[in-house]
Amino acid sequence: MNPPMDPIIQRMQGVFERQRLAFLQHPYPTLAERKAKLKTLRALLQRYQDQIVTAVSADFGGRAPAETKLAEVLGPVFEINHALHALGGWMKPKKRSTELLFLGNSVRVNYQPKGVVGVIGAWNFPLYLSVGPLVAALAAGNRVMIKMSELSPRSTALLAQMLAEGFAEDEVAVFGGEVAQAEAFSHLPFNHIVFTGSPAVGHHIMRAASQNLTPVTLELGGKSPALVSAEGPLAAAAERIAHGKAFNSGQICVSPDYALVPRGKVEEFATEVQASFRKFYPTVQGNHEYTSITSEPHAQRIRDLLAEATAKGAKVTACGDNGPGRRIPLHVVTGVTEDMRIAKEELFGPILPVIPYDNIDQAIAYIAARPRPLAMYPFGFSGAELDKLMRKTHSGGVSVDDWGWHVFNHDLPFGGVGNSGMGTYHGEEGFRELSHAKGTFKRFRWFPMGLFYPPYGNLVQRLVF
Ligand code: NAD
Repeated sequence: MNPPMDPIIQRMQGVFERQRLAFLQHPYPTLAERKAKLKTLRALLQRYQDQIVTAVSADFGGRAPAETKLAEVLGPVFEINHALHALGGWMKPKKRSTELLFLGNSVRVNYQPKGVVGVIGAWNFPLYLSVGPLVAALAAGNRVMIKMSELSPRSTALLAQMLAEGFAEDEVAVFGGEVAQAEAFSHLPFNHIVFTGSPAVGHHIMRAASQNLTPVTLELGGKSPALVSAEGPLAAAAERIAHGKAFNSGQICVSPDYALVPRGKVEEFATEVQASFRKFYPTVQGNHEYTSITSEPHAQRIRDLLAEATAKGAKVTACGDNGPGRRIPLHVVTGVTEDMRIAKEELFGPILPVIPYDNIDQAIAYIAARPRPLAMYPFGFSGAELDKLMRKTHSGGVSVDDWGWHVFNHDLPFGGVGNSGMGTYHGEEGFRELSHAKGTFKRFRWFPMGLFYPPYGNLVQRLVF
């Protein structure tokens, strides 16, 4: 006798089938219908904002309320506002040029909803990373199933309750569960999957999706460098990089992972980073403005990385008070060598390795020799030097003279390149990513197409030449 099927997986399969059939019944929601859904979503986010702060904080064991408001509520609301403003234009068929030979016929691209979109999210911004793709998917007229991370159960329960108030299950549905359920989810024959998570799991998603030839958007991570110039204001660069490492305790895909700093300025830079962090957080222990590391295994991973670097001879400086719990202050690390884990792994936490460089070409070579990161942050460069950096380094996105803000500009595409992912969403690119661009040729009634029918006379032969 077969073992009974997992109830979450059973529900996923049932909802998928209902969403698929519902989509076939109503395959092209109008502009007004899509806008109404986006407004419903915005109203839910606004109504539930305090509960969102509480639920996310409970998942983290302490998440700064302002960070939750900014990232999980305001971020999606900005995206919705932008989509509401621009959607009419995005949906319009786009006229394309044609050969002189075909002049008179109509040549257009029509944007059609893909169908049922599967979204798999990460725990570090549980709502932002599920509601963000949801905005793009609804704008594009799709139905959506969301599988949340097993590490954010309270956010999952709240999002499920919240979305059930505004959407029928055959429009939008939320699923919890563990990795086994996420794996089953990735095997469903979606019309598109948007995955946010690590490059390692990205491989699994792509393999699973390939069985159904499901297109994927992979929003992955990596080691995003901050590159500090010898000429620019060092204290300002240090303060902004310290902020990028302190926000959500560095548990951000676009957090500056490490800093490349001119050799002669390493100590001064490290001191400035410490001073900035202490200004932000005079105390860390018990400070509710500073976010905890999400779980004990993750906190232990951070401690292990620091212990290994220390054992191998690095200088590790805590920028604030350490304690027994999961609020871990930023640690600046100098004297980093290539054999240390902090030089190789995505840190995803409050550790900042400072790597010296002697000239800009050497810094570019250091970045180019590693997997392509999700973001790159040049500080204090301008003119030809900045152009050179932009052209010779590859990264998903760039913020110049600051960190991460390109992600919160919803008219910019967001996505990785190479090891940090493929495909983009946010704004118009999100709409296009989750729509099918249907190339459409419409013949003009009197067009003499018969000239191209057999028997082929001399005309076609002459045209070729
Ligand atoms: P993860 O890859 O461990 O998990 C991500 C999601 O995948 C979770 O929901 C998990 O349940 C699911 N999952 C795990 N194994 C699976 C499998 N075999 N099949 C299908 N699904 C599976 O990542 P994480 O720890 O949740 O997040 C941290 C990583 O995510 C970092 O690398 C970070 O840089 C990246 N990230 C990227 C972005 C972005 O927008 N590019 C945003 C946040 C986080």
